[in-house]
Amino acid sequence: MPEDQPAAGPKPFVGLHMQCCNVYVRAYPNADRTAYVARCPRCGAPVRIDVVEEGGHTGQFFNAS
Ligand SMILES: [Zn+2]
Repeated sequence: MPEDQPAAGPKPFVGLHMQCCNVYVRAYPNADRTAYVARCPRCGAPVRIDVVEEGGHTGQFFNAS
């Protein structure tokens, strides 16, 4: 059973602009670190941003339709 361990430092995250509700949220890596995940605080729309191997992610703006 994997358990959450105390982070040695601040977790990396990306700031996302939720165009559905015009709010900013923070997306954190999932357990596998294959994607950043977040949820819109207003409408609850899930957000997933796949991490690309070339470095970084697909972008900081995401339109949750
Ligand atoms: Zn929303």
